[in-house]
Amino acid sequence: MSRVPASLLFFALAFSASAFSKAPESQATSMDKIPGLVDASSVVKGLQVELKYSTTDNFMKKDVYGDLEKCYLQEDAAKMLGEAQKDLVKIRPDLRFVAYDCARPLSVQKKMWELVKDTPSRSYVANPDTKTGSIHNYGCAIDLSLAKTDGTPLDMGTPFDFFGRKAQPRYELTLLRQAKLTHEQVANRLLLRQVMVRAGFTPISSEWWHFNCASTAETRRRYKKIQ
Ligand SMILES: [Zn+2]
Repeated sequence: MSRVPASLLFFALAFSASAFSKAPESQATSMDKIPGLVDASSVVKGLQVELKYSTTDNFMKKDVYGDLEKCYLQEDAAKMLGEAQKDLVKIRPDLRFVAYDCARPLSVQKKMWELVKDTPSRSYVANPDTKTGSIHNYGCAIDLSLAKTDGTPLDMGTPFDFFGRKAQPRYELTLLRQAKLTHEQVANRLLLRQVMVRAGFTPISSEWWHFNCASTAETRRRYKKIQ
């Protein structure tokens, strides 16, 4: 009876194990392993998560996130969001946050850039080859809105990722005067901004849904880009 030497068996097993570990990882699995990154739902109870880029209901009409369906954020950002949610519930117990985009790996940023770079939408997607890229690439930005506890989003005047003046906070007062935004729509945006800013987030003047957890310089100093 022939016997397979133990050393040969060891190498056979080691080889098959390494071959297995070289199989491409899913995006969601790799996010779980990044130090400092957390699933925001584990920190912010009741957070509604609807990642638009993990569906075809987005401006690219393509699911670029694949199996990435959770809202990952840097732990600091998730804790700040938790504080904002507590504040929100105190003011309006009938409301909660709905997250549309959170941490976005650089590999996805590149995919998105390839899809839009030769189209008019290019100004709405950060070029991945620049020094900073997008703050979403660090897990320090979140796109979100307010929703009723049954899941219905509040009327913010435009949907998420509406590309035009109506979505830009810098024109809100003008649009209100021109009756292109209602008082209720502006009040809903102000409530979102109020609770986010009080928790330490910074809004931007071009998108009502986007908030950064730190300045660009501070983001680069504290966090690494998610590959
Ligand atoms: Zn954003």
